[in-house]
Amino acid sequence: ARGEPRVVALGGGALINPDARRLAEETGQILCLSASLENLISRLDPASGDRPLLAGNLAERLSHLLAERADHYRSFEHQLVVDGLEISELVWKAQQQLGAFRVSGMGPAYDVRIQRGGLGQLGSYFSTLGLKDPVAVVTDNNVAGRCLENVMTSLKSAGYHPYAYSIEPGEEHKTIETVLSVWDFFIKAGIERRSTVVALGGGVVGDLTGFAAAAFLRGVAWVNLPTTLLAMVDSSLGGKTGVDLPQAKNLVGSFYPPRLVLADPEVLGTLPARELRGGLAEVIKHGIIDDPELFNRCAEGWTFITGNIDWVVRRGMAVKLKVISTDPYEKGLRQALNLGHTIGHGIEIASNFQLTHGESVAIGMAAEAHLAEVLNLAEPGLVQCVVDALKQVGLPTTIPMGLDLARVVEAMQFDKKRAAGKVQFALP
Ligand code: NAD
Repeated sequence: ARGEPRVVALGGGALINPDARRLAEETGQILCLSASLENLISRLDPASGDRPLLAGNLAERLSHLLAERADHYRSFEHQLVVDGLEISELVWKAQQQLGAFRVSGMGPAYDVRIQRGGLGQLGSYFSTLGLKDPVAVVTDNNVAGRCLENVMTSLKSAGYHPYAYSIEPGEEHKTIETVLSVWDFFIKAGIERRSTVVALGGGVVGDLTGFAAAAFLRGVAWVNLPTTLLAMVDSSLGGKTGVDLPQAKNLVGSFYPPRLVLADPEVLGTLPARELRGGLAEVIKHGIIDDPELFNRCAEGWTFITGNIDWVVRRGMAVKLKVISTDPYEKGLRQALNLGHTIGHGIEIASNFQLTHGESVAIGMAAEAHLAEVLNLAEPGLVQCVVDALKQVGLPTTIPMGLDLARVVEAMQFDKKRAAGKVQFALP
């Protein structure tokens, strides 16, 4: 159990021994797989003779054993019922349960982890992945005071020599000028091709630092530590990095996946409510795209969400991960992630960014659901369902009075998703 990370497949009775269970719990995560009696019987060959516990009447012995161990099996936090699932589905659900994903499809495969308290374990992730010194950590002034010390201490205690640099927070600093200052910091920190860059912050820090890492020395390894809900469930996943130009957002960038994405839900405790709500717009969007349970649970409102934020993060991340693994370069399915964004972008720009991205996307989702209903692509009632969920978490669902609608439409015309002279929508 100690040493290199690995998957250990244990027999059904292995963790009844309290010492064995303690060891497994101390050194890893346990996922309890279960199957129906019929399924188990079909998999067991009583004639093989190497299962003495099941000798005699198989069905009888097995149901007795299952009943005897029922409490034990139930006592594990992570459960997976395997009946009727393909291996690939099981692998996916196992990753989802454990918050431990392996992502492929763009460059070498990399790890995505969701772990409460994970920032304090960063040093051991670095050692395990063989990431190299010196390490340059980029963060912003809001995040620095909350999370930086934890990250630096963890890296130092694993024998690394990290340097830190903090930028001004906010979208207005996601510029090429800030990237220049980050490169200057890389040079002072002695970053070489085999060194490692770390982004610690929201989507602004992640996009900008990833881009700086992609271009510096033609690419140095980087690790993304998202600290907002939006960055966890959205911007940290999928390898898109970049900066804004005065003409438009995200106009310059590259696809450059990190070596590790580590999301620690503990840090969300200090996130302002408006930022959290913005992230929830994307979570609800992911629910609409591919996870009805996530959608329905979020629609229950704040009490559920704040009480189960780790679950919300895991499930919200899982949808995006599934989509980008299928279509990393946005040739097809990945466009689904633009749900709410065509009208949303228009609204965000027309409001002169007074509405946040999440608020604009929420309004965009309600409007685009309406479009889907009008076009008979969705059943009547969809709009109400989407609007109710968004309202439940305090997100707006209608275009504010006084917003210049002509400007919304104009901004939509220039949307970069425009193809062949047409504005495109990803409709539910
Ligand atoms: P952000 O990075 O500006 O963070 C929002 C605010 O929260 C900032 O003031 C930040 O300092 C603060 N903050 C961050 N973590 C905190 C914490 N734990 N506690 C307290 N305050 C904290 O914005 P964002 O919403 O995280 O990301 C938006 C950016 O993401 C945009 O630039 C957008 O273009 C980009 N984005 C990129 C992708 C992609 O695929 N690369 C996808 C979606 C969005």
